[in-house]
Amino acid sequence: MFENLSERLSGVFDRLTKQGALSEEDVKTALREVRVALLEADVSLPVAREFVKKVQTEATGQAVTKSVTPGQQVVKIVHDALIATLQGEGDPGQLKVDNPPAPILMVGLQGSGKTTTTGKLAKRLKDKEGKKVLMASLDVYRPAAMDQLAVLGTQIGVDTLPIVKGQNPVDIAKRAKQQAMLGGYDVYMLDTAGRLHIDEVLMQEVEDVRNAVEPRETLLVVDGLTGQVAVEVAQEFDDKIGISGVVLTRMDGDGRGGAALSMRAVTGKPIRFVGLGEKMDALETFEPDRIAGRILGMGDIVALVEKAQETIEAEQAEKMMKRMMKGQFNMNDLRTQLEQMQQMGGMEGMMSMMPGMGKMAKQVEEAGFDDKVLKRQIALIQSMTKKERANPKILQANRKKRIARGAGMEVSDLNKLLKMHRQMGDMMKKMGKMGKGGMLKQAMK
Ligand code: GDP
Repeated sequence: MFENLSERLSGVFDRLTKQGALSEEDVKTALREVRVALLEADVSLPVAREFVKKVQTEATGQAVTKSVTPGQQVVKIVHDALIATLQGEGDPGQLKVDNPPAPILMVGLQGSGKTTTTGKLAKRLKDKEGKKVLMASLDVYRPAAMDQLAVLGTQIGVDTLPIVKGQNPVDIAKRAKQQAMLGGYDVYMLDTAGRLHIDEVLMQEVEDVRNAVEPRETLLVVDGLTGQVAVEVAQEFDDKIGISGVVLTRMDGDGRGGAALSMRAVTGKPIRFVGLGEKMDALETFEPDRIAGRILGMGDIVALVEKAQETIEAEQAEKMMKRMMKGQFNMNDLRTQLEQMQQMGGMEGMMSMMPGMGKMAKQVEEAGFDDKVLKRQIALIQSMTKKERANPKILQANRKKRIARGAGMEVSDLNKLLKMHRQMGDMMKKMGKMGKGGMLKQAMK
């Protein structure tokens, strides 16, 4: 899957990883090639552009990690950016099927794999979640499609709605709902008719069905091999019908990662499942990190960089902890802490994770800590000289004034920060005295 893109990116990174140091110009050059690779893999132009821009910003702002080459680091950054783009909210494999009977509407173009996917999902719901599922084909134009679903149903042991000739799709949908209610089904899946291209009649029909049953999930099935077309189809269906997710089929074939990437970026809708073959169990939950790994094909480099970063973080934390326990908690440490707090959802979020920090959490709350405050405090620390950061006690009134002004704040803001620093330092010292295996060590984990 996605070999094309992987190979292309591998080529780019082969060149990068051989270099010792990476200048900003090198990053730019590399990312230009990444962009071409993305475009050739059928990622849409705006998505590729946006993606590269994001990576550029991240790569440029980042300090080089020790013990890996800058090229390896760029691999990791590209990898993370891929995941971020591909990631949706929540578990993609969790279908909303509470409140039985829950209707699931399957939509998409003809030949996209809609009927097959309906069967695969029904089987999954039955086997993995123990749901009682009913399937119904709404394809009144192709009797063969109705038969196909019935055959699949028999094969996987899932009931299908008996075929009644002459009914329109809305009638069939209503009949499915009724049968699902009477028969005690948890879920009923509606396999709508597809067309070769999107047309008004098709959209209207799907819309009518949607209005008649109010589906809990509306899943768009698209052929992952159709690249750009798949993205346009997704956008169209989402505009007109409103979809809750995408299933990408044929990802077992000549993979082009582009569809996955731009589908997600363009529609904002999550990719929920990936079809990996014709068999009824050839369906997987969409996993962004796995797909990103496949797109890049450089999992070992990513792991290497992660390891290096973890080691460095652990070393830093260890050093800081030792200093803090000796009462040497300086402004640089405070800044590191504030930055970490920013990453962890603010002071309160972090305090709530630390045992024994209840009292401080309250002070923090009273001080009105939010992201903006954190940013301003970091700015204040940045305005100090190296010496002042190491030992804020040397700060005289005129320096305080200048520092506050430099950061666009009042001296009282700076005083508050200094007070907080003192209090934190005292507390850390106390905790340090409580022993190495004490609270602080726990909190640092
Ligand atoms: P529909 O017209 O959208 O209902 O499409 P079908 O479900 O009838 O599928 C069309 C063809 O694609 C069938 O031969 C399926 O077996 C095949 N197919 C569906 N999903 C996949 C997939 O994930 N991988 C592969 N290789 N073939 C698939």
